[in-house]
This record gives sequence, structure tokens and C-alpha cells, in this order.
Amino acid sequence: MQLTSPRLRAALLAAASLTLVAAVLPPPKALGIGDPLFPELGNPGYDVLAYDLSFTYKDNRSPLDAVTVIDARAQEPLERINLDFTNGTVAEAEVNGEPARFESVAEDLVLTPARPVAAHMPLHIVIRHTSDPRGRSDGGWVVTDDGLAMANQADAAHRVFPCNDHPSDKAYFTFRITAPAGLTAVANGVPGALPARRAAAPTTWTYRTVHPMATELAQVSVGDSAVVRGTGPHGLPLRDVVPAADRQKLERWLKKTPGHIEWMEQRVGRYPFENYGVLIARAKTGFELETQTLSLFEHGLFTEEGYPEWYVESVMVHELAHQWFGDSVTPRAWSDLWLNEGHATWYEALYADGLGKYSLERRMREAYQRSDQWRAAGGPPAAPKPAAPGQKIGLFRPAVYDGAALILYALRQEIGAEAFDRVERSWVGEHRDAVAGTEDFVRLASREAGRDLGEFLKPWLYGSTTPPMPGHPEWSGAKGA
Ligand SMILES: [Zn+2]
Repeated sequence: MQLTSPRLRAALLAAASLTLVAAVLPPPKALGIGDPLFPELGNPGYDVLAYDLSFTYKDNRSPLDAVTVIDARAQEPLERINLDFTNGTVAEAEVNGEPARFESVAEDLVLTPARPVAAHMPLHIVIRHTSDPRGRSDGGWVVTDDGLAMANQADAAHRVFPCNDHPSDKAYFTFRITAPAGLTAVANGVPGALPARRAAAPTTWTYRTVHPMATELAQVSVGDSAVVRGTGPHGLPLRDVVPAADRQKLERWLKKTPGHIEWMEQRVGRYPFENYGVLIARAKTGFELETQTLSLFEHGLFTEEGYPEWYVESVMVHELAHQWFGDSVTPRAWSDLWLNEGHATWYEALYADGLGKYSLERRMREAYQRSDQWRAAGGPPAAPKPAAPGQKIGLFRPAVYDGAALILYALRQEIGAEAFDRVERSWVGEHRDAVAGTEDFVRLASREAGRDLGEFLKPWLYGSTTPPMPGHPEWSGAKGA
């Protein structure tokens, strides 16, 4: 038999060279970039520029069919390319137009391209796979009463799609979500061509981010949803996604967002993204999550008894504040998590203070009383202990929330409100759409204060006990509180 199609011949030659390469390579292994808390997260050797993710959703009992396209740049010569991926079956992989061998090792998907990739060369990776939403509780897809949502923080994006799953590698995202008639699909960013609602056949919804994003902040929602549009400060497009049946009931909460954005902008400057909104999901997650441009909230927060209005609003402000702190400025490593949560807690507490419900000073005094215990249990804010195996959410401890907001309070006490205000604005201004860590913050704070704050901040960030609070010599860690 003669192979006449050039495409078939190319495939055959590629397969042949692949065998040659594979013969001399050692067995593939899982790699990471050495994150202190998640050593196997992320992968060395390349920088992802863009993800193009296609998902076909049928129902909550079936894996989604998916195609993940990754455009990246090799930073060094690569004979293998490690991606983070688990919880799906890979059918096919291609690198730069040629079939690549693929193997799963722990939570890595290891590709062996037909020919090695030279340093600084573009990498175009196509992976056909499934993405399974069933039977897990450790992040990734969140099963809701009427479909799916996503909660990838800290290390679960790779339970949904193959990726370089570390916040230090931000990239642009395009989403193409095909869903049955009657369901609405929404993702981060701005919509492409919008299908007519309630079309008879499955429809494909497309979205793209205008700003780079960390994998942990990706959001895809499929459900019986209403998309509520509005306008925020300076004409900022607002887009909320809520269960269609509850639209009326939830509207009074949605109306609060423009005021929240205005309040944040007065303190730290312009909202950093293309649009904003809340995604209210019919699910019990036990948390809210700052997915970029579309924060995820549990339905119960807005509909169940027992949550005072000021509390719900301050939680809304917490997730909104993350759009600046955590989303636009992304942590360099997961041990920099305090920069996300400390700031979000700070603005949450400041907002509640402004409503006259819970003063910032009282909250900080109470945090101070517990801070030593928090540090003993979870480590200091900037060097937290790893979460216990199987309890990854255990990383999100009080030491990185109120315990970290306490560092910001101490800093403000030390350098004064004016300099502190400059620190906050410069931080989100200078690191916008970028990655920054604890040492960057210390440097920036020192610059704005006009003196080296390294020695002052070190025990606050890394100490096993809480230093004295400037201006409050009477504060103490309550024994047995
Ligand atoms: Zn938070």
C-alpha cells in the first residue's frame, strides 16, 4: 500500500521520530516550580501566553468533552512538556501541529513532542480530553442544582483542564462552552457572539478575558441562569449571573455592587478589569470565591435567615477587593496568600466599620488577642504551614485573613494613614496585571514610607509570636481567649 496523502505521511514520519526520541529519554516524572506549599504545582521551562478552552456540557452525570489549546513560549530546550492535569481522560495530544506522546504521572500530564522544542520557540499545544465533574469535593467543578460552576483555588484548575496551574503564570483565556438548549453558559471576561437564549439546539457561548488571568481564577458557569446587566462607575459594564427563578428576590443585592465599586475606587483607584458581577450559584460550597470579573457566591448567603445585611455586604466587598488584590495583582507563590486575604479582609472590615456595625479597631484588637494562637496553629502569615493532606482548603486559616489584616493595621499605625494610602494605591497600580510577592510589598512600603521597613515588618510577617502593636501598648495576646 502506498501512502499518498502528505498529511498521512507527515503523521507517519512524526510517529517514527517520536519513537526515536522516546527511546533515549528517561521515564517521565511529575515536576513543579518549587512552590513552598504546593511543590508539584506549575511546571518549569515554558511560559503560557493563552488558553483556549472548549467544553461541551451535557448533564451533571457525564464528563464534559473538552479541547484545551495552549499557546506558550519555551524558555529552555524542551524534550518533554509537563502540564498539570487530572480527573479527565486524554484522547489525543499535539505539539506544534504534530502528534505527541502523552502519559499521566501523578497529577502531571507529560507530553513528549515528536521533535524537541528549542529555547524561545513558540509552543502550540492541542489536547482533546474529558473533564469530569463527578464525585469530588476538593475543588475544580462545583456541581450546582442546575448545572456547574468552578472553584479552582488554590490548586484545582488542573482538575478541570490541562494547564500550568500556578498563579505566577498568568495568561489570556478564551472559553467556548456548548450547552443544551435552555441553559445559559457564562465565563470570565467579555462575551463573543451571544447565542439567542432558549434556542432549540445546543448553543456555543464564547467569552474572552481582556486581561491576563491566573488559572485558579477561571470561572465557567452553566445553569438555568439569568444574566442581569447594569452599569457601574465610569460606564463599567456590570454582569451578574443568578438563578433565573430568583432574579427578583436577588435584585436588591445586585444593586449594591455599583456603590461597592465606587467605595473601593475611592480607596485604591480604578477597578482593574473589563467588567464585574456576582455569580450566585445554587450550591453549598462553604466559601465565596473571587473568580476574575465574576465572583462566585453561595445562594444561601443572600437567601437564608441569619446573615445581617452589613455582613453580607462586607462579604461582597471582600470578593470585590480581591479583584485588585489577588486577581489583578497575583501572588508569586502560595505563601504570599496573605497579600490576597489580608487586603480583602482589610477592606471587608473597613466597609463594616463605615456602616457603623463593627469597628475596625475592635476587630483588630480581637484579632490581636488571637494572633499568637493562630500563628501557633497555622504558622506566621507569610510562611503558613502546608495544609494537611486531603484538606487543601485548610490553607485558608485565620492567620492569613484577620491575622494578615492585622499586619496592614500595624503598618498603618507605624507609617500613618497617608503613607499607608499611598502604599495601597501604588501596590495595585504598579503590579497591575502582574505577579508580586511579600518582598515586593516590603520594598514598596519602605519606599512610600521613606525608610526601610524590613526590620519592622519581618516579625509581623514571619514571627512565631505577634510583635507589639504600635500605638496600642495596652493590647496583648489574651491568654486562653
Ligand atoms: Zn478572600
